Amino acid sequence: MQDFSKTERELSLNPSVADEVTARVVAHYGSLSKFTKGYPKDLESTVLAAFVHVGPTTADSQSINNIQVITMATGTRCVGLWSDSSNIPKSVRDCHAEVLARRALLVHAWRELESGRTVPEDGWVLVISQPPCGDACVPARGKDLTTCSEDAPTTGAHAVRGTVIDPHGEPSDFVPALVRTKPGRGHPSLSMSCSDKIAKWAVCGIQGALLTVCGVRMRLGAVIVTQQHAQSAEPLRRALIERLPKGSPQISVWTSSVACFPHCMLCHKERLHCGISLVWSVSGILEAINSKHGTLQGATRAKSGQDAALSVISPYKILTVHASPKIAHFLSLPLQEFLKMDYHNVKGLAVSYCASVEAFKAQAPFDQWVVRPPSFTHWNVKHITTQK
Ligand SMILES: [Zn+2]
Repeated sequence: MQDFSKTERELSLNPSVADEVTARVVAHYGSLSKFTKGYPKDLESTVLAAFVHVGPTTADSQSINNIQVITMATGTRCVGLWSDSSNIPKSVRDCHAEVLARRALLVHAWRELESGRTVPEDGWVLVISQPPCGDACVPARGKDLTTCSEDAPTTGAHAVRGTVIDPHGEPSDFVPALVRTKPGRGHPSLSMSCSDKIAKWAVCGIQGALLTVCGVRMRLGAVIVTQQHAQSAEPLRRALIERLPKGSPQISVWTSSVACFPHCMLCHKERLHCGISLVWSVSGILEAINSKHGTLQGATRAKSGQDAALSVISPYKILTVHASPKIAHFLSLPLQEFLKMDYHNVKGLAVSYCASVEAFKAQAPFDQWVVRPPSFTHWNVKHITTQK
């Protein structure tokens, strides 16, 4: 196991390391050609997110030279609740950059396991080109909201219905520390805001249930936002550190002064948001996802449920291509038997992970986390395959 406490201490002690990590991500984006799948057009803007692995420093070295960009994604959109509901497990419904970069990280981890390598538990850093949507974009109380909204990004996300709203009658969009859902396209979405999802990764691990079954644990060590905004540091700390349940693992949160990437949404507010998401990983993923349908760009509507149209980071692909064979082998179950298992029950095999998620969602404000309809989790590969 790597000594992340040391890495984290270095990050804490030396803000230039955060700048170096950010610079690597921006340079990596810059190394892509404009002909890369999913690369935004000249007059478009988007959000960029990346997972970076920062290795431990050696005792005689002050600089961290073991920085590797593992996954990267762009995107700002989320599929609404009722569009294409029959294809739920086959599409990538939440196409915000942070969520896509994390799903690509899951596939990367499965590929590492399949190659006989281990996945490091520590050293994982999330870099984002602006504060994540949701609570991290809600100005601190007492601040002039008009001034804030001119300088800081707006959340776009809405407080979960039924949440107890501020007794002073403030509009809920300005009440800090609430959990929020992302807006969908035409329909409301059931996806929690990126601030909420990152909070969950910080507490329960980035690896999710399926990798946990195979003994993988990946801890989020730090979040870096690539741009400094006068109003952004306080909400960022509140959203990702202070509102977490007592006793949660501590992550560090940074804003960096490195120049941003060319399609930054905050630097180019006048531009149209790019509707295509680019997903990349060091382990070979390079995809463009149409964020309207959550399937590969270029797939026709008629073909959108078919295998060739599906992203490798969709829940269906992750389960069939990676998780099923590995977990069946791990549990010494015949694969055919395993494929009949309900997705919800497969996730339930990760007893410790599920318990930590349950504990996380039992505490305010996360007790308002939206419960999704059964169609999201009660499906199995056999049923989906024959449904077409
Ligand atoms: Zn978001």
